Amino acid sequence: MIVNYSNDYDVECQLDTCKTYPVITDHERGEMICGGCGILLVQNMSNSSNENNGYTLESFTKLARTGPATSLAIFDQGLSTIIGSDKDCTGKALPGKTKYEFRRLRMWDQRSKSKNTAKLSKAFTLLHGMKTKLGIPNNVVENAAYIYRKAVDAKLSRGRTMASLISASLYAACREHNIPRTLDDIASAGNTNRKALSRDLRTIIRKLELNLKPHDTALFITKISNNMNLKEKTKRDAFEILKLCEKEEITAGKHPVAQAAASLYISCIMNGGKISQKKFSIESGISDVTIRNIVALINKTLKIF
Ligand SMILES: [Zn+2]
Repeated sequence: MIVNYSNDYDVECQLDTCKTYPVITDHERGEMICGGCGILLVQNMSNSSNENNGYTLESFTKLARTGPATSLAIFDQGLSTIIGSDKDCTGKALPGKTKYEFRRLRMWDQRSKSKNTAKLSKAFTLLHGMKTKLGIPNNVVENAAYIYRKAVDAKLSRGRTMASLISASLYAACREHNIPRTLDDIASAGNTNRKALSRDLRTIIRKLELNLKPHDTALFITKISNNMNLKEKTKRDAFEILKLCEKEEITAGKHPVAQAAASLYISCIMNGGKISQKKFSIESGISDVTIRNIVALINKTLKIF
C-alpha cells in the first residue's frame, strides 16, 4: 500500500522480516522506502525542510519563499497564522472600517487556538530549556516532542504534571538515541520530582509500547572522564576493564553510571592517579558506597590488585 502525501513518523514495512530495518526517507524524491526490502511506502511527500536558496544574504532574501523548517517541537509546528499590522501593501494606513475588521479577525484567531495548543506551547518551552541545560541535539528534542504528543493523544496527561511528562518523554528519546543522560540529570534540569518522573516514564513505555535499550556504559565512561579531565590512557584502560567485566558477566543489573565510575576509579589507580572515590561519587551522582561495592566486586572477579 503506497500512501500519498504523508509525513507520518510511524510508517513501517508490513513484512515481519523488515521490522528491524529503518525506513529510509529520500527528501529529494519525496519518498519513503523500506530499508530491508526496498518497497516504496510513501510517495509525493511534502517537503518540510528549510528552503535554502542562494549563498549570500542578498540572494537568500530574494529567493527564499518560506520560513524555517517545520518542527514537532513547536506547538503549531511553525505553521501559525500571523495577521499583520494595520497597513496595506503600499504602506498606507487601512481605512477605519477595515482596521476594525482585521482587529476582530486577529482576536478570533487568538481565541480559536485550543486549550491543547496552549498546553503544548508551555511544554515545549520547558523542553527547549532542558535542551539547552543538558546540551541535547535537535533530532533528540524532535523525537521527545513526538513522544510527548503521542502521550497527550493517548490521554496520559490526565493526572500527571506536564513537567514530569515532558521530562519522561525527553529521557525516553535520549535512551532511543543513546545519549548518556540519567534520570537524575533530567529530573534536575526539568525541575521535577524524580520519583514521579520514573513512574511516568514506566507508564509512557508501557502505553506507547516503546522499545528502549539499556544505556551504553562506555558512553558514561567517556562522559565522566571528560568532565574530570582524566588522561586518555585512564579512559582506555577503563574501557578494557568494562570489557572484561562484561565477559565475566558481572555487569548485569548494575547501574551503568556506577559501573562506569567504578571502572574509571580502578583504571585511575592502575595509572597512578590519586582521585578519591568521593570525587567520582560527586561527579557521577552515584553514592560512594555503591561505587565501593562494585569496585570490590570487580577486584574480586578480575583480581587486578
Ligand atoms: Zn520491507
